[in-house]
Amino acid sequence: MDERLIRRRWIRTMAVVCGIALLVLAAGGFAVWFLSRSMNTVTEEQIEMETAEYGRRLKKQVASDFQILYTVASVIGDGGLAERTDFPQILQGASQENDFLTLSYFDQDGSNIVTSRGEIVAQKETVEFVQAETENVVERGFQGLPTISNRVKGLYSQEMVFMYGVPVRQGDDVIGVLTSSSQVSVFQEILNGEGIQGGIGWFHLMDGDGNLLIHAGTKPDEDLSDDSLYEAVFGDEKTVEKIQNGEQVLLHKYRGGKEYRILLMPLGINDWYLTCVSPAWIQSHQMNMLMYVLGAMFCIMVILILFLAFFGGSTASRNNRDLVQLAFYDSLTGTHNFVHFRQLAEEASREDKQFAIVSLNIHQFKFINEIFGKEQGDDLLRYVARQIGRALGPDEFFCRENADSFYLFLRDTDRELVRRRIEGIMSSITGRTDNYNGNYRIQMYSGVVISEDGERDRMVERMLNHVMFALAKARTTHQNTVWFFDSELHKDEIMENYVETHMDQALKDGEFQMFLQPKVTLTTRRVIGAEALVRWRRPDGSFLRPSVFIPVFERNGFCSKLDLYMIEQACAQLRAWMDAGITPVPISVNQSRLVFYENDYIEHLLAITSAYRVSPRLIMLEILESISMDSLDELNKKIDLLKQKGFRIAMDDFGSGYSSLNTLGNLRIDELKLDQGFLREVSGGKNERSEIIMGQIAILARKLSIATVVEGVETQENHLLIQRMGCDYGQGYYYSPPIEAEKFTRQYMKDRKA
Ligand code: C2E
Ligand code: CA
Ligand code: CA
Repeated sequence: MDERLIRRRWIRTMAVVCGIALLVLAAGGFAVWFLSRSMNTVTEEQIEMETAEYGRRLKKQVASDFQILYTVASVIGDGGLAERTDFPQILQGASQENDFLTLSYFDQDGSNIVTSRGEIVAQKETVEFVQAETENVVERGFQGLPTISNRVKGLYSQEMVFMYGVPVRQGDDVIGVLTSSSQVSVFQEILNGEGIQGGIGWFHLMDGDGNLLIHAGTKPDEDLSDDSLYEAVFGDEKTVEKIQNGEQVLLHKYRGGKEYRILLMPLGINDWYLTCVSPAWIQSHQMNMLMYVLGAMFCIMVILILFLAFFGGSTASRNNRDLVQLAFYDSLTGTHNFVHFRQLAEEASREDKQFAIVSLNIHQFKFINEIFGKEQGDDLLRYVARQIGRALGPDEFFCRENADSFYLFLRDTDRELVRRRIEGIMSSITGRTDNYNGNYRIQMYSGVVISEDGERDRMVERMLNHVMFALAKARTTHQNTVWFFDSELHKDEIMENYVETHMDQALKDGEFQMFLQPKVTLTTRRVIGAEALVRWRRPDGSFLRPSVFIPVFERNGFCSKLDLYMIEQACAQLRAWMDAGITPVPISVNQSRLVFYENDYIEHLLAITSAYRVSPRLIMLEILESISMDSLDELNKKIDLLKQKGFRIAMDDFGSGYSSLNTLGNLRIDELKLDQGFLREVSGGKNERSEIIMGQIAILARKLSIATVVEGVETQENHLLIQRMGCDYGQGYYYSPPIEAEKFTRQYMKDRKA
């Protein structure tokens, strides 16, 4: 469930990241497109600007040429110089003073004076010899119009020139025309300039018919001959039309597979056009390089984003998985932990009310760890988990809560079926032969609760409580046992109610009665002590066993009162023996944890012993081994105080679950009572492991000067066994069940009379 959630989140995150990456790519594409478009516009604007600038320079040159020519013409006209005989020399002088290649004068009669480079080269001859271009210029001059010709080869200079012509006026009359020629190279130089577009473009000056007047700049490649350029421009009708209308034109033309930009800008002189040719392919090549770099950068960015997202995401999801693993799984067996089990059980119970919860434990697992090593213990737990896992159906699950405590969620509700399944699991585990040299048998016990129709509220929680009841029952039987929580246990609940409502009155009325069970030496079977065990004699004469009411008292605190009451009963008995001249044996009294930790506990004990004038040495306080789960320091402090006063301390039920051999070494107790579960396991001599454990405990206790008492000795076999093991004392039905104090005195104390 949780992994699915993480997976879904991970997919969602990746989708978002991919979306972002796509957006970045799209943005990159747009940026490239936008950039190339605006670069294009900028380039075109730049071409236009540069072209206009060169056009302006050209026009300035033409204007200044006209200016000079007009000045000379007005001097000639206003001064009537043309009439003078030395006019040729005057014209020659003027010609020497400016940069014109030729300076000529034509009069009405058609005769002329021509100077070339300051020399008079023709005089008073007819005008017929001049070229058509010059004739046109002169003709227009007589019409009063200043004119500049197209490119023409100078007659005298033999160079390519432009011819200028301006009228020479006397008053309002045009008396002649002054012409000059300027070398084309002058204009060419202007157009060459610094080179357009950083030197990659070039100019043409041409007329409206496409005749080339000036070529400037250097062509970067030979593919584009002038002819092919003009073909490109004038091969297009629309362009021709625009040119005829004197409009500016911008063209994109391909020649030899390469793109050129051609700008045709009307110059405002004749029908001249200044044409700028710019090889767009060079720019687009540069542009493309830029785009490639940009594109590559965007791609790298996208890859980086994807990589970071993927790397970060997978790290995060790995961390999440680890956290989930920690939060929901048991690190040792890999199965669910209890928290997760509970959650899953609650989810499952909402869908289907028919199920069983099973608790499965191993008898005395703690000692397996201690005697055979933690590794073997862990190995066993993993084996148990594997066997359980193998036996479960697809909708079933299980967990390890801690140590050897497993919980199973089964879909069966039939008692017999559930029992068979659990017994199957148990025998697959206890029948394991591949380890521990096969010299001991693991024993397991199990509590089961099956869902019942009825209250749905907090169903799993209640079932988990009930399964603990069942487990506790199963534990006391010491065999591979499956115990079902059922009506019998419900009866206990009813009984619990009775106990709680009657306990105070019962104490007042003396319904609690002390029974005594002898403790004997194993060698001589001499009685060396007795354990006081409480019985509740009800007014109808029936007895209640402590297992029915002690747990209730422990929970509601009444145990403190009862335990002190039992101390008092024991002291009364000791006093009675002494008064009767009988040498008393110490009496062991069970003490709950509750009373043991009460602040004025010792004062209360001393008050009782002194009231009956009984030595504390005759009282042995039995505390449960579960008390050693608390702080050992505190416990030892209390034990020391009690021992200073003379009381002796026994640890009860040792080996029933909690204690470890280590704690034994750290506790200053006088006696160790081995839980009867040990004997049950060893019985028949089948279980060598428990025998080993018991033997080890006896040896250790002896080293620590702690006496050992084995509880639950029921047969002679038991008796001989514990004797062999080196235990000190025995207690059990084999010697005597707990009996009324009076009977005890009769049977065991008579021969102790002085
Ligand atoms: P315990 O202290 O371990 O007492 C020994 C129990 O084992 C007694 O059960 C006794 O009757 C039973 N027993 C003795 N010999 C044998 C045997 O050979 N075989 C079997 N199967 N059982 C044997 P009982 O009297 O029912 O007491 C149960 C428990 O209730 C005691 O276990 C003790 O923990 C608690 N208890 C009894 N009296 C008192 C008391 O006055 N105060 C407190 N706090 N707890 C008490
Ligand atoms: Ca006891
Ligand atoms: Ca006991």
